[in-house]
Amino acid sequence: MKALIFEKPYTLVLKEIQKPKIGKNEICLIVKAAAICGTDLRIYKGEKTKGIRKPSIIGHEFSGEIVEVGDNIIDFKIGDRIGVAPVISCGKCYCCLNDLENICINRKAIGYEFDGAFAEYIRIPAVAIESGNVFKLSDKISFKEAALLEPLSCCINGHSKCKIKIKTDVLIIGAGPIGLMHLQLAKIAGARVFISEPNSRRREIAESLGADILIDPQKEDLSDIVMTNTNNQGVDVVIMAIGISQMVGHLITLIKKGGILNLFAGFQKKSFSDIEPNLIHYNEINIIGSSAMKLRNYITAIKLVEENKINLRSLITDVYSLSEYEEAFSKALKNESIKIVFQN
Ligand SMILES: [Zn+2]
Ligand SMILES: [Zn+2]
Repeated sequence: MKALIFEKPYTLVLKEIQKPKIGKNEICLIVKAAAICGTDLRIYKGEKTKGIRKPSIIGHEFSGEIVEVGDNIIDFKIGDRIGVAPVISCGKCYCCLNDLENICINRKAIGYEFDGAFAEYIRIPAVAIESGNVFKLSDKISFKEAALLEPLSCCINGHSKCKIKIKTDVLIIGAGPIGLMHLQLAKIAGARVFISEPNSRRREIAESLGADILIDPQKEDLSDIVMTNTNNQGVDVVIMAIGISQMVGHLITLIKKGGILNLFAGFQKKSFSDIEPNLIHYNEINIIGSSAMKLRNYITAIKLVEENKINLRSLITDVYSLSEYEEAFSKALKNESIKIVFQN
């Protein structure tokens, strides 16, 4: 089969390798769709190294159809349409026992410790099936949409910590795929959403998905717009959908007393931010983080897409075959697209 092999930073090579062999408790999927994630780009650039083997196949946002089942598999059959939550938690550690399975200390993930989806076929390890990470999908979800269920699940996890309800003012920094998913979740909850995004095409998509106030931070004053529109009180919630640590200190000044700053994006290693602690103290600002997803978030994501409450289709701006990986990755690195998906 064809597989895109990550050999070292900035080196991906399309190779012909053996189709994966499965064990008795495993299944094999033909990958139907696999999306390039910001994390894949950080792996490609050598910025993310934890759990990454070299050489290996990366790609953790994917969907597929079962082509082979192990002898002991009873819940799945050949032909089933499948979505996979790639992060497998241990169920035993402190985090797992305290409703923090998403940040399980012993977590392993497909696309990291296990070979990922930038290939024609993928072996789904027994531990993923036993942990309930494999989901049958109805035909109400296309394979391409299903590849985006994982990032949507992560956004649902982050969203659930922001206490967003009717008339909450939410400011989202960045209208890439993550920002646009947070936007839609906040709108479902009844919020008024401000989007700060320098790219005009992304702002247009944000507008079409229901953003209330659009800001071009390179031409307009973000503080002015936020304060004028909130009676000088600031917004209830800020969600950082881009990882620029230098912005954190400034964003705290845009939050209403008692409000929340969610550091949703990953930041560069060893990057720091100047913050004024008194703003947090006197204004009782809550700074929270969110990382990865819980299985229940994946189930919610499936429902939201099946019920047409979240539009993932308009986030998929480019579709490539695996053999066009060079163009796909160079486009992804330019940050012009929203979501790039490999289709098989
Ligand atoms: Zn991802
Ligand atoms: Zn655990």
